[in-house]
Amino acid sequence: MTAGHLPGGEEATGTMTNPMFVFDEKMAELVLGYCRDRLALDPVPLDFGGYATPFRDVLDGLIGPEGNDPAHVLDLFSERLATGVISSDSPRFVSFIPAAPTKASLLFDMVVSCSSLHATSWLEAAGAVSAENQALRVLADLAGLPAGAGGCFVAGGSAANLSALMVARDTASHRGHGAARPKVACSEEAHSSVGKALRVLGIEEYVVPSVDHRLTGEALEAALAADPEGAADVVAVVATAGTTNAGIVDDLKGVAEVARRRKLWFHVDGAYGGGALFASSVRPLFDGIEQADSLVIDPHKWLFAPYDCAALLYRQPALAKAVHTQDAAYLDIIHESIPGSDDVPSDDSGGAEEPWNPSDYAYHLSRRARGLPLWFSLAVYGTNAYREAVETVLDTARAAAAAVEAAPHLELVRQPTLSIVLFRRQGWARADYDAWSARALADQIAFVTPTAWEDEPAARLALLNPETTIDVVHEILDTMA
Ligand SMILES: *Cc1c(COP(=O)(O)O)cnc(C)c1O
Repeated sequence: MTAGHLPGGEEATGTMTNPMFVFDEKMAELVLGYCRDRLALDPVPLDFGGYATPFRDVLDGLIGPEGNDPAHVLDLFSERLATGVISSDSPRFVSFIPAAPTKASLLFDMVVSCSSLHATSWLEAAGAVSAENQALRVLADLAGLPAGAGGCFVAGGSAANLSALMVARDTASHRGHGAARPKVACSEEAHSSVGKALRVLGIEEYVVPSVDHRLTGEALEAALAADPEGAADVVAVVATAGTTNAGIVDDLKGVAEVARRRKLWFHVDGAYGGGALFASSVRPLFDGIEQADSLVIDPHKWLFAPYDCAALLYRQPALAKAVHTQDAAYLDIIHESIPGSDDVPSDDSGGAEEPWNPSDYAYHLSRRARGLPLWFSLAVYGTNAYREAVETVLDTARAAAAAVEAAPHLELVRQPTLSIVLFRRQGWARADYDAWSARALADQIAFVTPTAWEDEPAARLALLNPETTIDVVHEILDTMA
């Protein structure tokens, strides 16, 4: 290489640098200005999603051989396309599972993006991996997992469930199971992604009848004892720590005991509810979670991180590593001759010892350092701020339930366990709920969608944003009068 530097700093390559890779001050100001304005919105407007008009007129012909003025494209986005996305971080978003990313996590997400920050292997990204592992450790401590626990961040609870259940399946023989057709026990309240993961893995669902919508140790044991032949194929059990529809926490302690006795892998899906581990007011509901072989918590749900961020933890990470490590000639180097690896104790017992390759612990390889926005936010605000935010949401859920009970035309389906409130409007059929939901969005009062409970339609408030005040709840309830 003899190419020297020209006075202007351009490489003497004989060609102009492709403009795609040249810093453009004006475009940077434009986009960063947009980000600044979006971060400062208070409150965030709800907007419209699929209820908005189609966007053909915006997009037709936009992408062609020649580019466009970035100001024009950004304008199309901010004025048109963005209004067709319901803001999941609006305090008026109470459908499905909302998002409520902290300001620090959103800002640091921009850092992760700007730096194209990856965290696939220790060799490439020890700094990012160390910080991600520190955030994972906070979650492991909340759950009471042992010092050796560890894992990685994946894109979502669905990917995490799939990755964990793959380990449950592939380690079954270690636990003395010889099942040719393995089954995994769960209740009918398990998240849809669990059933989907089991289909991918060729595992049959072994459905245990729930008791008042909870999977209990007693019911699990009764089902297995009554069916010795079927039970022989069961290699794992999935318990849910906060069902998505109703926020119910399974009998983790009872299920854990049965799992230990029967040598079943104990997987806990706390994708939504796991954030409530921060709240002392509900922490006893989670007793038994410390015995999980694998645990999923979505920080992009109730731990106030931006999408997409799901934490996947294993009690014995070495088991997961044996299942998920990818073998390829070009990858060998990330597993051998890692600087410092000689000093590291062998981790046969599992253990988040460094060096650590996040790619070894889930069904993925290249990955964004998606745990860092959470890490930065935890470091900046401290865990007490998280505790307080989660308790605020729980208080609002209790107040919302009381408001429903006080309204003559409404009927509470059940007291909320966590932060999901199910209730009914007297005399309403599904079509009435659908029309009400569409109206509430059209009026920008709330994005609130109906669900079903015991085969009857019901209204559902998924509270998760500490800024969703009881006043917003009252506004919503008033639309049902
Ligand atoms: C949301 C959720 C999932 C799926 O998580 P994604 O991040 O949406 O993939 C799995 N389990 C439970 C209990 C959930 O609430």
